[in-house]
Amino acid sequence: MATLINLSKTPSLAGIRQPATLRPPEVEPGVACDFDSYLLTPDTSCSERIAAAKARLGQDVVILGHHYQRDEVIQFADFRGDSLKLSQQAAEAQGRYIVFCGVHFMAESADILRRSHQEVILPDLSAGCSMADMADIGQVETCWNELQALGNLQVVPVTYMNSTAAIKAFTGEHGGSVCTSSNAAAVMRWAYARGERVLFIPDEHLGRNTAFRMGIPLDRMIVWDPYQELGGNSPEAVRNAKVILWKGYCSVHQRFLPEHVAKVRREHPGIRVIVHPECRFEVVQAADEIGSTEGILKAVQASPPGSQWAVGTEVHLVHRLSQERKDRLVISLDPNVCVCSTMFRITPQHLLWALENLVAGNVVNRITVDDRTRHYARIALERMLSLR
Ligand code: SF4
Repeated sequence: MATLINLSKTPSLAGIRQPATLRPPEVEPGVACDFDSYLLTPDTSCSERIAAAKARLGQDVVILGHHYQRDEVIQFADFRGDSLKLSQQAAEAQGRYIVFCGVHFMAESADILRRSHQEVILPDLSAGCSMADMADIGQVETCWNELQALGNLQVVPVTYMNSTAAIKAFTGEHGGSVCTSSNAAAVMRWAYARGERVLFIPDEHLGRNTAFRMGIPLDRMIVWDPYQELGGNSPEAVRNAKVILWKGYCSVHQRFLPEHVAKVRREHPGIRVIVHPECRFEVVQAADEIGSTEGILKAVQASPPGSQWAVGTEVHLVHRLSQERKDRLVISLDPNVCVCSTMFRITPQHLLWALENLVAGNVVNRITVDDRTRHYARIALERMLSLR
């Protein structure tokens, strides 16, 4: 079970030993440094102060920024990436403090992979993930028990990176693995070498799209609704299934529809459509290419100048890509902005607050995972990192 320490009301600094050379001018000993006082800080002065705090912390801090993060925040990231790349960075980071500008499950993974002297900070604890929230450990354990009760079923659990530490630990403890959108096929191949069927948690679409591309027919896939007995399936359907897909989805990627693909093709003849595998099956089938976040970046960057791309993923990444590759047309597949609203909760003010507290000797919003959960989740995450 993960434990959160929310110090959003930071206690007085009195009595805290602070290296004089690190103390920022705004934070005086004995003066509370709470988030409320940062709320009205304008973005422009935030930028200057973030840069100053980061400079004061030097090698002690490493800032990780997910590709979906807003520009005002990601400009300060030492490393940018998707959840796979950032979890590798977290495992290799040298800094004492890992400030994770992503969402909660990513910071948990960083805490599982960190070295013993490091601490992981999520600048806003409300930066969660709607998909990860669609599977809780109690539901997964109930599902597992119902599957075991059918008798003699070989099931290997695979959980997407976008899940809680408790579910990652469950997969590690039960012979499974974590996967990302970059290596989901490799992890599923690994799983099929160990059992007849895969329980794929929590993204129905990533599981279906990956399995279909591996040659598994749709009629060998079932959806597990955690609010129904046996997931809403008959025992025969479960026994026939090669993949059991947890009924979960990403609120951003689910918004893309086949109609968007048809429309963009009408409006931009010759345009290539590339979508994230968290999109619906029908959208993936209508697209030209499927790509993880890093895969989308590589495909567009490797294309010749003059290329046209409609991209089905979070809009901050699409917009940044269009700015960085002005000799190509890069547009969002959905004309109505698709923002990851939870990641958007991390503002420059939150980053500033976290960094200036660190300068003052306060660790705020630390993410910690308990030892047992860490042990088994680490097994599942290390399997993921070893499979490409
Ligand atoms: S884009 Fe979707 S899956 Fe990714 S963090 Fe946001 S809600 Fe979760």
